[in-house]
Amino acid sequence: MIRVFLTRPLPEAVITAAEAAFEVEIRDSTAAMKPAEMRAALALYDGVLATLGDTFDVEIFGDAPHRCKVISNFGVGYNHIDATAARACGITVTNTPGAVTDATADIAMTLMLMTARRAGEGERILRAGRWDGWHPTQLLGTHVTGKTAGIIGMGRIGTAIAQRCHYGFGMDVLYTARSDKDVPFPATRMALWDVLSRADITFICVPGGAETYHMIDAAALKQMPTHAHLINIARGDIISEAALIAALQKGMIAGAGLDVYEHEPKVPEALIAMENVTLLPHMGTGALEVRTRIGMLAVENLKTFFETGTGPHLVN
Ligand code: NAP
Repeated sequence: MIRVFLTRPLPEAVITAAEAAFEVEIRDSTAAMKPAEMRAALALYDGVLATLGDTFDVEIFGDAPHRCKVISNFGVGYNHIDATAARACGITVTNTPGAVTDATADIAMTLMLMTARRAGEGERILRAGRWDGWHPTQLLGTHVTGKTAGIIGMGRIGTAIAQRCHYGFGMDVLYTARSDKDVPFPATRMALWDVLSRADITFICVPGGAETYHMIDAAALKQMPTHAHLINIARGDIISEAALIAALQKGMIAGAGLDVYEHEPKVPEALIAMENVTLLPHMGTGALEVRTRIGMLAVENLKTFFETGTGPHLVN
């Protein structure tokens, strides 16, 4: 029997599907795996269904003998797994593209509206009993309809965000990506700094990893207009958090909406202290049906791998 290790509790339907196909062991902690746990998982199981926070780096793969042949990542972002090091020791890595797209784009819209329209700040005032009634100049935010959206990384999620911005909010769409994209609505590709300097709301949608680490640094933030908002639903370390805090404190940009952080789950006090920042706890895909779909795809990837030795969602 093929032995599979699930590194987190998962939705019931996903566990049922996994147990129908494999001999399954489920770790009952919701915390990220520790190094010794990851080494043990590679040594004892044929497949590991891992997720964000399980840092399978080059040292974990090491050169010790292992039983594991495949790591099926629960999620599309796999920058916590060194896929090259995995391949070097014969371990295939898969991910779950597509299953996350719409939910994450929806959270980007949530962040845009909460930040630009000061919704978090307004709710905090109300809940604190400090709301003394409507008046014409209270909590004036940024109107988003008809403005310009900047998409940094026009992939699956970037396109879904752009689609919502265009059809939902009548926004012009500018984007940066490594190649031209054929999307069914008007969108103009330009260099990163041109997008940053022209967009009213900029969305970070590139994958994390060495290539995009601190892509948005102090110099990039300087390109943004002072009325602009920056939304990040991708990975925290694509933005230099220190540079972002400085830019917000100096009023170089108007606000930020963040679902991800450079040193997750640590969130700097300086960000928490700012009213013009919306902070969500990495909940881009946080809906039961979405997490179920991600998990089913991760299990399907394992089944396909063990049946065929390959699969449709390989990343290495
Ligand atoms: P994707 O389809 O692979 O899209 C990534 C896009 O980024 C592609 O258009 C790619 O351009 C572009 N890109 C990559 N490197 C670039 C670079 N150096 N400069 C400019 N553009 C670059 O990925 P996705 O499915 O949209 O997911 C994007 C990321 O979102 C994931 O990697 C994950 O980290 C994150 N995510 C977060 C959550 C959450 O809960 N907050 C949920 C799901 C995903 P080309 O096509 O031209 O190569």
